[in-house]
Amino acid sequence: MASRSGRRLSVLKFGGTSVGDAGRIAWATQRAAATAKRKRTIVVVSAMAGTTNLLLESARLAAAHEPRWRQAAEQIRQRHSDAAASLLTPAEQSRFAAQLERSLGVFEKVCRGFDLVGEATPRGLDAVSSLGEVISAELFAARLRSGGVRAEAVDAARLIVTDERHGDANVLTGATETRLRRRLLPLLGRGILPVITGFRGATREGVPTTLGRGSSDYTATLIGALLAADEVTIWTDVDGVMTADPRLVRAARVIPKLTYGEAIELAFFGAKVIHWKAILPVMERGVPLRVRNSLRPSVPGTLIIADSASRPAVAAVTAVARVRLVTVRADRLLGPVDLATRVLGWLAATGVHPLLLVQSSAESSLAFALTHEEAPALASFAQQLSPFPASNGVVLHSAQEVGLVTAIGSQIRHPTGVTARIFSALARRRVHVLAAANGPSGQGMALAVPPLLLPAAVNAIHREFRL
Ligand code: ASP
Ligand code: MG
Repeated sequence: MASRSGRRLSVLKFGGTSVGDAGRIAWATQRAAATAKRKRTIVVVSAMAGTTNLLLESARLAAAHEPRWRQAAEQIRQRHSDAAASLLTPAEQSRFAAQLERSLGVFEKVCRGFDLVGEATPRGLDAVSSLGEVISAELFAARLRSGGVRAEAVDAARLIVTDERHGDANVLTGATETRLRRRLLPLLGRGILPVITGFRGATREGVPTTLGRGSSDYTATLIGALLAADEVTIWTDVDGVMTADPRLVRAARVIPKLTYGEAIELAFFGAKVIHWKAILPVMERGVPLRVRNSLRPSVPGTLIIADSASRPAVAAVTAVARVRLVTVRADRLLGPVDLATRVLGWLAATGVHPLLLVQSSAESSLAFALTHEEAPALASFAQQLSPFPASNGVVLHSAQEVGLVTAIGSQIRHPTGVTARIFSALARRRVHVLAAANGPSGQGMALAVPPLLLPAAVNAIHREFRL
């Protein structure tokens, strides 16, 4: 067996819809088993679609003393036992039933605590919200064993070491790499297929944490990168990464090949298909990343790899609606550097990720853009930075709603006139630009436009570059 599998390693990640019911799990496990015949294979799974939201909603209900929170346990039990009944051998089914009850026991215990104190603590929320992954990993592994494949569910709380930032924890890479090597390599060596919970980690002390919503992709790429996999595949429910949102641009199509830098920009600026954080580990270690549709496995999907010479000027356009463009000014006593320091300090403390940040030193003013979801954080900005606007130095000038359109391509940073083409394409459609900036890796140009002109802006750029 060892000679057949050699040193090659594949990481397969199945998202919520790809494990959404018995039929999907049957397909996904079959795919994993087929890969495992050819090489060492690791699987990472999300919770069954909708489970994480249900768990979080129940936690909120419990904290509000709403007895309805208890219904979630029954829903989760029903859904997973139904799938188990059609997927597992009787022996595996009873073993799974016991594991399911153990997870539901954790759910009940933590939520009862929330109900008692009238508050859902970040620590308790992480313990509850990631139970969907614990259950789906057990189910997936049990299905593989039912088909004669040696597989074992592994709780990522035993593998992924993080800091204490509950809800959006940062991974401690060194400690994680050590554990992955110590705990997964021996399993693989014995021909066992590990099925790992996405989304979850734990502190050094073993307290469960989560890596942020949608972060199972990140779990997969992190493991793939740290174990030097030769490929990571994200199995999702769309055909791949697209040139634009097909709801806005009729001519949108799947992009066969993207660079890591382009993919980061795309994910950062609103392409929902992959979490932007997920690109970083594979980019650092040069591991190819594939995004494929588990509902249409004949479609090749998108391959994400290192920079290549022959890239188009612009590879994709994204649109983020309902963005808040915030302008702050320094009063006379505060210089531009102090202004930036205070604003960045607030951003860091709040943990929001601005979509763009531009400073005009001459006027000592600064603008940044927040997503609609993160806009409520602004309340604390006003409180902390300008309680007495005239004396405190930072004045919150305006917070207008805009649309954010982004042209993405690894050529944008080169002086080839790409930026000029973007601006003139917008001008021809009478779209005026309220703020503009280069994205995090210099491979994207983000432009804030009036909300109603967002569709026109996206289509103008899509057409200009013949995407
Ligand atoms: N289940 C988690 C979520 O819904 C993680 C993931 O699916 O990536 O956010
Ligand atoms: Mg996801």
